[in-house]
Amino acid sequence: MTTTEKLIKALKAVPGMSVGDAMWYAILAGAAYLFFHVVFKSALRHRRISSKSASSRQIRREILHSVRSLAIFGVVGGMIYIAAMNGWTQFYQPIDKHGWPYYFVSIVLMVVLHDAYFYWTHRLMHHRRLFKLFHRTHHLSTSPTPWAAYAFSPLEAFVQGGIGLVIALAIPIHPSAYLPFMLWQITFNVLGHCGYEIFPNSFLRSPIGKFMNSPTHHALHHENFRSNYSLYFNVWDRWLGTNHASYEERFDRATSGGRAPLRATITIASERLAGEAARPDLESVTA
Ligand SMILES: [Zn+2]
Ligand SMILES: [Zn+2]
Repeated sequence: MTTTEKLIKALKAVPGMSVGDAMWYAILAGAAYLFFHVVFKSALRHRRISSKSASSRQIRREILHSVRSLAIFGVVGGMIYIAAMNGWTQFYQPIDKHGWPYYFVSIVLMVVLHDAYFYWTHRLMHHRRLFKLFHRTHHLSTSPTPWAAYAFSPLEAFVQGGIGLVIALAIPIHPSAYLPFMLWQITFNVLGHCGYEIFPNSFLRSPIGKFMNSPTHHALHHENFRSNYSLYFNVWDRWLGTNHASYEERFDRATSGGRAPLRATITIASERLAGEAARPDLESVTA
C-alpha cells in the first residue's frame, strides 16, 4: 500500500471514530446531566459540591468545546490508524495470541499509563507559559457540568487524545481493548465534572478511597487551579504533595447530609476568600 493510499484510508476512518466517541459522550454526559442537574437536582441538593449553578451559556460553551475536541479525537484516531498500517504500533490479533488474562491486564495497564500521562501533561499545561494556549478553555468552568468532560482547547484536545497513540506505541493491546478503556475514562471523566459527590461519607477513610479519586477531588481543581491534578488515582497528588489541603473537609461536607462539621464550614468560608486571590492564574493570562 502506498503512503497516499494509507492516508486516504485513515482519512475515511476519521469521521467514524469521532462519531463513536461522540455517541458515548452524549449518552454518558447526557445521562449524568439529566440525573444530577434535572431529575434529582433538589433531592441531591445536600450532595452538591459547589454552591454555584451553571448558566445555559456555560452549558452551551462546554458542549461546543467538547464537540470540537471530539472532531480532533477522530484525527488522532486517524494518526493511530496510520501508525498501525506502518507497523509502528503494538496491536495484536487474535486475542488468543496473548490469552484472555493478558487482555484484562492490558486494560489495567492502559488505565495506569493514562493516569500517569494525565497527571504530568496536566501539570505541564498549568505552567504559566502554556496555560492560556492549552488549558484555559477547560478552566472557563469553575463549577463544571458533565458536559465539560471534553471541553478543551484544540491543542489540549490533541494532548488528551494523544494517550490513545501513546498506548498503541507502548503496550501490546488488542484493538478491541480500547472500548472498555474508553468507557472507563469517559465515565470517570463525566462523574468528575458532575458537581455532586457520589461516594459515601466513609469513602476517604477506606483503602479504596485513599487510592481512588472522587468527584470532589476534581471539583476542587476547577475551583482552585493549584492542586488536585490527578485523574483516576490519588497516588501522584499524594506522593508529590499536590492534594488540596481541604480535600477531606470538603468531601466531608458534601457527604454529611448537610450537617457539615464546623471545621469544614470555616475552611470553606476562608477558602472562598482565598480562592479569589488564588485565581489570578486565569485573570492574569486573560488580561
Ligand atoms: Zn476538569
Ligand atoms: Zn487543570
